[in-house]
Amino acid sequence: MKNCCEMDLKSQYLEDVLTNLEEKNANEPEFLQAVKEVLTTIEPVIIKNEEKFKKLSLLERLVEPERIISFRVPWIDDEGKIHVNRGYRVQFNGAIGPYKGGLRFHPSVNQSIMKFLGFEQIFKNALTTRPIGGGKGGSDFDPKGKSDMEIMKFCQSFMNELQKHIGQDVDVPAGDIGVGGREIGYLFGQYRKIRNTYEAGVLTGKGLSYGGSLARTEATGYGLMYFMREMLKANNITVSGKTAIISGSGNVAIYACEKAQQMGVKVLAMSDSSGCIYDENGININVIKEIKEVKRGRIKEYLNIVPKAKYTENTGDIPAIYKIKADIILPCATQNDINLETAEIIVSNGAIAVGEGANMPCTNEAVEFFIRNNVLLAPGKAANAGGVATSALEMSQNSMRMSWTFEEVDKKLESIMINIFNQCKHADEEYNLGANYVAGANIAAFKKIAEAMIAQGII
Ligand code: NDP
Repeated sequence: MKNCCEMDLKSQYLEDVLTNLEEKNANEPEFLQAVKEVLTTIEPVIIKNEEKFKKLSLLERLVEPERIISFRVPWIDDEGKIHVNRGYRVQFNGAIGPYKGGLRFHPSVNQSIMKFLGFEQIFKNALTTRPIGGGKGGSDFDPKGKSDMEIMKFCQSFMNELQKHIGQDVDVPAGDIGVGGREIGYLFGQYRKIRNTYEAGVLTGKGLSYGGSLARTEATGYGLMYFMREMLKANNITVSGKTAIISGSGNVAIYACEKAQQMGVKVLAMSDSSGCIYDENGININVIKEIKEVKRGRIKEYLNIVPKAKYTENTGDIPAIYKIKADIILPCATQNDINLETAEIIVSNGAIAVGEGANMPCTNEAVEFFIRNNVLLAPGKAANAGGVATSALEMSQNSMRMSWTFEEVDKKLESIMINIFNQCKHADEEYNLGANYVAGANIAAFKKIAEAMIAQGII
């Protein structure tokens, strides 16, 4: 990753902020990466308002979380052994509404990853046009191989502390990697027990029997494809008839695949952290759902049902899936999945578009390479915002004590995603960026956040 002195910056204020940020957060590479991507792409707006922003220390305040909570999570496994994990909640920016963002349970979780996700969430949430601020949380707990009872015990212990810091008007967590409907259920149950209140809007991604919204499960993946369709349309390309590959086989990947197929796209391959499957007839998404959502198994089990498909184990730095040729690339697994070397392979295979279902799946160098090579790039904080937007719709339904049909929620999701794409396009055109929707998304979101922060004074 380039340090700020190696970047070609025109704003002295921006350079000073980045230098200070690097000194203060030297051991947080993911956080630095996320902030650098945003701040360097919004430079045209900073230059226009340099004196004002500097006087208000706007950028210094933007990059400093309002609050970071870190806590001990002790739990007892099925054999009676005690384990201790670390829990986090980063309440990054509440200028636009209650903090909102998912919880991630994965062994790689640390403060840098929590801060990068929380920072990105501020921008994503602003783009949804819903009244929600940015936050993120999670734990270095590894759910893989744990029994249902162990998952429940961990969730209960995690909530014993988290409940002190959240509330439907304070901070509203949801799912992310390793946290799906089952975990949200256990977390909600414990919150209700401790607080002795039925506060449905305190968590989103709930089950339908206790305040969840129809289409929330599908929302991130569906939203990603609505954004992709709009982006291609704006560049005179039709989505139907294209081929795609999707990294990951979790919540986002599964519903991106389902919507892509509904749009007439042939999805050739999907993956998990072990390797990828290739099915020349197009992935059978019902088989993937059965393996991942029901059995919680590994993707190579696809071959037990579809023996003609091929499985390739990941070896080396480049995930096997990205060596497969396709028109549309949908990274829906985790951050920094696509580095410059992988991006070079994708471009040489003739891809026309990349849609970031995951958060920050491409390194900054990969993003620059795609844009330079005219690959249309749908940035995560815009393209995967359908999940949090539908979470906000779930909160609205909870407040009104009513529920909308699947079709109603899906329609609202679609119009939100069209609106988000239009915001990116408008900023891209206003600043003459040449179909750079990464910068377009950052600029459109930043303007809203800056306005709300400035209006609320120095806090
Ligand atoms: P899930 O836990 O449902 O699925 C994650 C998938 O990614 C799994 O297939 C997993 O494989 C794979 N994966 C996870 N970590 C790694 C890794 N280090 N290397 C390779 N593969 C990995 O998570 P989601 O689908 O919910 O989230 C996926 C991405 O989308 C994340 O970046 C998340 O932040 C983002 N996102 C999610 C939203 C949501 O609504 N759920 C909303 C917006 C963004 P394995 O099982 O082998 O670990």
